[in-house]
Amino acid sequence: MITPPHPLPIHAPMTQFAIDNGQLLIGGIPLTQLAARVGQMPFYAYDRALLQARVAELRAILPASIKLHYAMKANPMPALVGWMAGLVDGIDVASAGELKVALDAGAKPKEISFAGPGKRRGELRQSVAAGVLINLESFREVNELAAISQELELPARVAVRVNPDFELKSSGMKMGGGPKQFGVDAEQVPQLLAEIARAGLQFEGFHLFPGSQNLKAESICEAQQKSYALALRLAASTPSPVRFLNLGGGFGIPYFPGEQRLDLTLIGESLTQIAARAAVDMPEAELVIELGRFLVGEAGIYVTQIVDRKISRGQTYLVVDGGLNHHLSASGNFGQVIRKNYPVAIGNRMNTGVKECVSVVGPLCTPLDLLADRMELPVSQTGDFVVIFQSGAYGASASPHGFLGHPAPIEILV
Ligand SMILES: *Cc1c(COP(=O)(O)O)cnc(C)c1O
Repeated sequence: MITPPHPLPIHAPMTQFAIDNGQLLIGGIPLTQLAARVGQMPFYAYDRALLQARVAELRAILPASIKLHYAMKANPMPALVGWMAGLVDGIDVASAGELKVALDAGAKPKEISFAGPGKRRGELRQSVAAGVLINLESFREVNELAAISQELELPARVAVRVNPDFELKSSGMKMGGGPKQFGVDAEQVPQLLAEIARAGLQFEGFHLFPGSQNLKAESICEAQQKSYALALRLAASTPSPVRFLNLGGGFGIPYFPGEQRLDLTLIGESLTQIAARAAVDMPEAELVIELGRFLVGEAGIYVTQIVDRKISRGQTYLVVDGGLNHHLSASGNFGQVIRKNYPVAIGNRMNTGVKECVSVVGPLCTPLDLLADRMELPVSQTGDFVVIFQSGAYGASASPHGFLGHPAPIEILV
């Protein structure tokens, strides 16, 4: 008996964008028309309706008492942050630069929180003046804030970012557990709480963020349950009741062959359970989850145009007008250990049946500038549009635009 070959892993279907007449539609506009409207290649396009649908999908599984925050480092484009500010319950920023964008976008200071290691004195001062919640990550920050609060005659609003004593299992990026530059080790938190009280800062609660890009609902639920238990233990040492508890996020999206979308049902059930317990254990606490990539990643595409087609010793190359300078993560150079292809399409030939094996490369003089390595794509010509899906998060702002001196990409919200 011959066993059939094991099916090759494939990309999760990118059905979030509709197709009409062979054209990918973004916000209902055919790609070729949209490119003409933008007037310059390459560009990122983000779809408002998809952002809205994603928030609605989450709201449907979350208990009403859980607040949803957008971690804007995933995509800080001002128009997009403005759109998100109207959809979610708060914005999480990681620098004074992001704080400005969030305030300009209309987010209320009460609903903004600021986390990140190495907050500079100036950034802390701006945050106190703005009245946003500061997630403390060191003893130094307590001392700085004590002086700033006195100077500005405004008590700093603070939460403690805890480096937990556990890890988020099967996470793309671990940001808690073991030695970390993020937060304060759980063991040291009681001492930090005592210093917060002594310094007269306004204590509000805890922030835990164990990791990022996780596709296993069970691991996320486990981390949330453990985060809750840890926060409850630490609540015994707080100078005032816990009013704010950020349980983190880490919800992933499928990028690579074989990956599947996260199962939200389980997460909804687990958070419902936590919310019910919190209503008894910490009745004054507002529960928050903070998501970046999951909210915006699938709503964005990066669009390039084919400049050249070359065949080198039997291998076909599509040379496009942008690459790792605009989209570092799709090139595999933003945290991946083994390079894998993002989902890619020829956006103006979505119905073409005849395929060929091609590699898509950018215009940079380095072999690292690879957007697709030997993929089956519809037969294409120069002038066609190569689209990289799953590009709404950690795309434009997470790429080295200055490298090789090409123009920066345009970003549009459609
Ligand atoms: C980066 C970051 C996020 C967002 O992570 P995603 O994987 O994009 O959801 C949330 N919170 C904190 C503290 C972060 O550093």
